[in-house]
Amino acid sequence: MTTAAGATSEAVWVLPEEPIPVRLMNTVWADRRGVHDALRTCGDLEGWLAATGLSAGPVTNCQVDTFRDLRDALRRLAALLTDDSRPAAASPLQDLAQAVEAVNHAADAGPAGPRLRLRASRLERDETPTGATGALAAVARQAVALLTNDEDAARLSSCHAPGCVLYFIKSHPRQSWCSTACGNRARAARHYRRRRRGDGTRAESTGDRSHEISSVASHVAPDG
Ligand SMILES: [Zn+2]
Repeated sequence: MTTAAGATSEAVWVLPEEPIPVRLMNTVWADRRGVHDALRTCGDLEGWLAATGLSAGPVTNCQVDTFRDLRDALRRLAALLTDDSRPAAASPLQDLAQAVEAVNHAADAGPAGPRLRLRASRLERDETPTGATGALAAVARQAVALLTNDEDAARLSSCHAPGCVLYFIKSHPRQSWCSTACGNRARAARHYRRRRRGDGTRAESTGDRSHEISSVASHVAPDG
């Protein structure tokens, strides 16, 4: 995977309705300028943790590189499950055993289970991850559950709209694209190819070549 030079990390997180492990996978995203990494700095990580509800406020022990390692491992495993051969989406971590090890390593990083919290003389179960390390472990454990649940794993998909590098969970069996925006672009590209084959002349521009991240982020109704 290469990332476009000079890209800024917009505080826009794509496909916000996806489960958190898929949202971590999708911190690699693309537009017409190329592939971008939304997790490059401690500020990026703080923003992502806040957006996913895993943590609010400053991250004391910034581990953006460990989150990227987990992200790349999850993208490799998602590629395995979805037969994903999109070159632009390929994880820099290709070795499957190493990807599994990276997920397990992250899962071991935080507290082993729920903790006890005392609030106004009442005992409560506290499952809120503690800091970046706890959040990392929480995401890894959710990923283990997702990737090994037959139903979830079967619904995990890679989006093959032109230029898209995202993963998503199908909300219905016929859903082919991660978002309405990708569905529209895929249909426009198909129409363009047909016209070019059909009448032998160069078709007009499809007029919808842009990959507007705001449209992707809105993740409007599932699209088949
Ligand atoms: Zn897509």
